[in-house]
Amino acid sequence: MSTLVDNIAVLVTNEADRPERENAALVIEDGKVAWLGDAGSAPHADERIDADGRCVIPGFVDSHSHIVFAGDRSTEFEHRMTGQPYAAGGIRTTVAATRAATDAELTANAARLVAEMRAQGTTTLEIKSGYGLTTVDEARSLAIAATLTSETTYLGAHVVPAEFKDDPAAYVALVTGEMLDACAPHAKWVDVFCDNGAFDVDQARAILKAGMARGLGARMHGAQLAPSGAVQLAVELGAASVDHCTFLTDADVGALAGSETVATLLPGVEFSTRQPYPDARRLIDAGATVALACDCNPGSSFTSSMPFCIAVAVRDMNFSPAEALWAATAGGAAALRRTDVGGLAVGQRADLVILDAPSYVHFAYRPGVPLVHRVLVSAD
Ligand SMILES: [Zn+2]
Repeated sequence: MSTLVDNIAVLVTNEADRPERENAALVIEDGKVAWLGDAGSAPHADERIDADGRCVIPGFVDSHSHIVFAGDRSTEFEHRMTGQPYAAGGIRTTVAATRAATDAELTANAARLVAEMRAQGTTTLEIKSGYGLTTVDEARSLAIAATLTSETTYLGAHVVPAEFKDDPAAYVALVTGEMLDACAPHAKWVDVFCDNGAFDVDQARAILKAGMARGLGARMHGAQLAPSGAVQLAVELGAASVDHCTFLTDADVGALAGSETVATLLPGVEFSTRQPYPDARRLIDAGATVALACDCNPGSSFTSSMPFCIAVAVRDMNFSPAEALWAATAGGAAALRRTDVGGLAVGQRADLVILDAPSYVHFAYRPGVPLVHRVLVSAD
């Protein structure tokens, strides 16, 4: 079965030498892009979709989400919007609700959010644990996440739970011991929140190394609340990505630029916590690889919308529209060390979004407007 998508005004492929084409067409076969070229000159296909002058982009790769949870924190958000600052400890509110929820409730909530993301153009998604913080609750969170994506991340080290507040070392021992044993079979990645009020650099090193020793890839939450050694630790350990990067030193930028570690920026967090936005220009000009993700979570960024994140990134983080789209597609793929998604070159997965717009510039030009006409996802 082959499908021709024809009459594409702008086709974004993210190919290195020619990232976008005008008046283009593509052919999908066996779930992959089989051919690219000028509109009207495509080979025969079994089925034809007329894009009718619309823009076609790769599906978004949202490399950072926390959607296995229960509860609502809109009151906390309301308080924050009236002057109370964000603190990492708010996570404990969601932990209590998540522990009390049934598997069915957690699964239904996460599946609803995945559907919401898909409707907005996200075709590859990472999901973290981190609201269970017991061996049983972290393992079940990851088992639920694994029913929704292959990109699952063990984040037992999200915050020190209340019952360990007087003995964080004992919690690190749990996270690197029994909890890791229970979670590793369901996880591809290990993550740690290395920041003020969460885990320090030495704890983060121990946690990531323990996960890596079990075959998990490393990623990190770092530099969200203050500068620290988190970014350089991520680079030192060869982490796939360090996420947030709100407060970076020049040494952090230099370390990222000379590494394979992606800097993943999360505009929804700064938007929802009224923190200053990081400057993407500084990272991109230094040569760092930059991704954009939603960080969908009930506390600091309850958006599932990559188009929204692109609009904010262009408006307030000094991305060009093309750079923001790249960061939300190919950048996210790099942050997950994936080469099969994030672009539409021949051989890549035919995960694509047909926009109700002639250009992806409309994500920032028409913020808040639903612009997704159709999402095509290749079968696994
Ligand atoms: Zn996060």
